[in-house]
Amino acid sequence: MCAKNHTEKRSLIVSVLTNKCPRCRQGDLFTEKNPYKLKTTMRMPENCAVCGQKFELEPGFYFGTGYVSYGLSIAIFAMIFILWGLTIGLSVYNNSIIECLITGIVILIAMQPVLQRMARSVWIAFFVKYDRDWSRP
Ligand SMILES: [Zn+2]
Repeated sequence: MCAKNHTEKRSLIVSVLTNKCPRCRQGDLFTEKNPYKLKTTMRMPENCAVCGQKFELEPGFYFGTGYVSYGLSIAIFAMIFILWGLTIGLSVYNNSIIECLITGIVILIAMQPVLQRMARSVWIAFFVKYDRDWSRP
């Protein structure tokens, strides 16, 4: 049979990148699929629709996502800087460094909704581990 098993385990990275519940890796962390609907982008259900995992483990649980978001932003900025240096080139004799910085800042601002969601997804994955037997009581 070639039918795909729907209970197949997703990898941790795929689960984090697709904003899935860390316990079952199937339920959605956010009620809105589109991160650029800014009014509702950070809205999360109280519990996972698939396994019932509570998403806000304690009051202010997502306060620490600022650190994750900062790390992700630095990593993306470093990638932009390296790619810019390898393709366009960086030099102190023209404006290429300023152009690279401005481009990086614009890209990071444009990516903020995605990064904020990913930071929450990474943060909750630190504290809630995958449970292979989540469907059993
Ligand atoms: Zn779940």
